[in-house]
Amino acid sequence: MDLFEYQARDVFEKHGVPVLGGIVARTPDEARAAAEQLGGGTVVVKAQVKVGGRGKAGGVKLAHSPDEAAQRAQEILGLDIKGHVVETLMIAQGARIAEEYYFSVLLDRAERRYLAMASVEGGVEIEQLAVERPEALAKVAVDPLVGIDAAKAAEIVAAAGFAADVADQVADAIQKLWVVYREEDATLVEVNPLVRTEDGQIVALDGKVTLDANADFRHPEHAELEDAAETDPLEARAKAKNLNYVKLDGAVGIIGNGAGLVMSTLDVVAYAGEAHGGVKPANFLDIGGGASAEIMAAGLDIILSDPQVKSVFVNVFGGITACDAVADGIVHALEILGDHATKPLVVRLDGNNVVEGRRILAEAAHPLVTLADTMDGAAAKAAELANS
Ligand code: GDP
Ligand code: MN
Repeated sequence: MDLFEYQARDVFEKHGVPVLGGIVARTPDEARAAAEQLGGGTVVVKAQVKVGGRGKAGGVKLAHSPDEAAQRAQEILGLDIKGHVVETLMIAQGARIAEEYYFSVLLDRAERRYLAMASVEGGVEIEQLAVERPEALAKVAVDPLVGIDAAKAAEIVAAAGFAADVADQVADAIQKLWVVYREEDATLVEVNPLVRTEDGQIVALDGKVTLDANADFRHPEHAELEDAAETDPLEARAKAKNLNYVKLDGAVGIIGNGAGLVMSTLDVVAYAGEAHGGVKPANFLDIGGGASAEIMAAGLDIILSDPQVKSVFVNVFGGITACDAVADGIVHALEILGDHATKPLVVRLDGNNVVEGRRILAEAAHPLVTLADTMDGAAAKAAELANS
């Protein structure tokens, strides 16, 4: 999950990274009040969108009085920045910048460690700097078992060539940014620019933080950082039920057990769909190993709530959970759902105890259920039903 800049600012502050005051505003009046609260002097009105290059796109503007902050807010609210419409602003305390630096730490999957990057030439275009003058961007490997201690911070500062009079302060800020990275279970912490102000302070003026969703269980407090407007409502419901669900754009709902089987089911349905008006899969849903009636019902409930879904393909390979248990699960799930089950289901079962599983479904003879022998046959049938 990517954080908004104002959320990153708050997280930085929590771990002692030097930041300036910042207050969220959603209207020009709120922007004026925020500027007053920050002392009535110069502030920066900043678009809160999860995309880089806001400055260049006109989403970062200085204002020298609370009234001007309201005016700038008026201009920036509603602006479209690379497809993101600005609905939220941060009114930030203005800084008098002497120099702009760059610092980031991220997960280097290929090398199985972390990577710190730093430059004394920060500012807006770090990607360009990395391409045109890579020697100006220091890259220092970070051992995950050690992290960025004082020695590593000194190494990074030296590699980037920070001047002696700021070296200690920058090293201190870098160590605190590492604490943010480790304590919050981030996969990216980036500060561009990290600045030296005219009075010699080192301050993080912008922040980009990506949190590792795999560590959410360690951070119940991260739930409130989630952007409700961004999450698909069906995905949110699925998540609450611990289902691995991803909404797609097609008309054939998919339920399978095991991520690999579900992935190949998506392919097979997309292929079969070509002969049926180009219908496509509507979602990814892996119900995992225990295909109980409750899990099957929860999965079907989510998929049937998607108005784009016209048919459902249940593709299960019986393993530890045998096909008869899965078949019972489907039959009971349809009982649980009752009138809510309104769309045709194509079921393909194979694997452990398949004969008994098919017998259970055939005997139940639910009017919405079609049994199929093969995965290709089932995909073709589901695509045909979705297109009729
Ligand atoms: P980005 O363009 O999305 O990366 O947004 P930033 O928050 O990095 O802001 C872009 C640029 O605006 C920075 O590189 C600074 O040059 C400038 N800026 C941001 N905050 C301040 C401030 O408090 N004072 C001044 N003078 N400039 C600022
Ligand atoms: Mn920036």
